[in-house]
Amino acid sequence: MNFFSLNKEAPDTTFKDAVIRGLAPDRGLYFPEKITPLSEDFFKNIDNLSHAEIAFEAIKQFVSPEIPEDELKTIVEETLSFDFPIVELNKNISFLELFHGPTMAFKDVGARFMARCLGHFSKDAKQDVTVLVATSGDTGGAVANGFLGVEGVKVVILYPSGKVSDIQEKQLTTLKKNITALEVNGTFDDCQDMVKQAFLDAELTDHMKLTSANSINVARWLPQLFYFMFAYKQLHNKYDNLVFSIPSGNFGNVCAGMMAQQLGLPITHYIASNNENNVVTRYLESEHYDVKPSIQTISNAMDVGNPSNFVRIQEIYKNDFSLLKENLSSYSFTDEETKVAMKEIYNDYSYVADPHGAVGYLGAKNYVESHPEAHCVCLETAHPTKFLDVVGEVIKENIELPAQILAVMDKKKKSIKISTYNDLKTYLLNR
Ligand SMILES: *Cc1c(COP(=O)(O)O)cnc(C)c1O
Repeated sequence: MNFFSLNKEAPDTTFKDAVIRGLAPDRGLYFPEKITPLSEDFFKNIDNLSHAEIAFEAIKQFVSPEIPEDELKTIVEETLSFDFPIVELNKNISFLELFHGPTMAFKDVGARFMARCLGHFSKDAKQDVTVLVATSGDTGGAVANGFLGVEGVKVVILYPSGKVSDIQEKQLTTLKKNITALEVNGTFDDCQDMVKQAFLDAELTDHMKLTSANSINVARWLPQLFYFMFAYKQLHNKYDNLVFSIPSGNFGNVCAGMMAQQLGLPITHYIASNNENNVVTRYLESEHYDVKPSIQTISNAMDVGNPSNFVRIQEIYKNDFSLLKENLSSYSFTDEETKVAMKEIYNDYSYVADPHGAVGYLGAKNYVESHPEAHCVCLETAHPTKFLDVVGEVIKENIELPAQILAVMDKKKKSIKISTYNDLKTYLLNR
């Protein structure tokens, strides 16, 4: 399948090239030139399909012929080697747990899929690919883990010193091999600016192949549509009006869910649940897209002022505001409301939600008040123990640490401290 740049000033390109480039030469995001819905039989028969079979059918059209079918089967099987359970709270609301992968956030799915695609493309390439990624917390760990040991690929992660949780820092600084963590004396925005500057720096790009592993990369974004189908498989015999509430930052997840709908998945509506970084909530109220600098909240993976995937959503609904509003609602919540929700979920349902999942729950609760016929699936995007400070403060009980967390806690951190773009450039040119 060919992909085009949403800025429309770069040539169309293949899946392989889109993955290796990350962003188009005109700085636009890539988008598939065509989306062909899956057959009715596929959805009728979904109960008989495994996760890997569902994923294979769903993504095949986007990645062939560059990833041969046999290889794709292996890639989806390896990517999806953990569970995606649903926990029903009541007849209107469920959680879809996306945190059973190695770094306990949904980003494992996209990162593992992308790592395997890039590994496939690098097999007989003469030059190594360097994945450069800025993280506010979860992306770094998922990418580091997904790419660990992949031949022909080097990963350089930039993270803001002192601004990620202890567990998140351990997950991205303790792996070694082909993974390097650069600890930036600055904020997440500084990290992201450095990465962007590197992509525009010919002195670097003439010497090395640089790509990104954020959700702008099609190989990280598209596989996120899989778990909407897994949720459908688990719930369609019980509820026939399925809605998803998605705690959102860069809007990669919402946008992937909408791709599942484009493929024919019968989803009635999407809810983008936001913290106080709420440009989309305000847009849907006013039709005015008014970007503001991000503010820090307890759901830090959603502290995004200008969501990069929103242009893809506009493309899906052909820039038609009323069509978008038919399919998407958005609500915004404060940290205080989020903590109250975490308590409520714990007291009423004995379920420990992380702050991001709690924002998703609040969005669902708002929506079903006026849509009592809907069943709303909230994405629980990370395990609560990744945010032990906040979760411990609100729940006030000992929460058992899962094996994935225990495994990194006592490992020794290894990072290289940098302060400026020049430090990054010097590192990349001299390693
Ligand atoms: C990245 C992340 C989000 C936001 O997802 P987007 O696809 O960027 O909207 C939400 N929750 C958690 C835990 C995350 O790590």
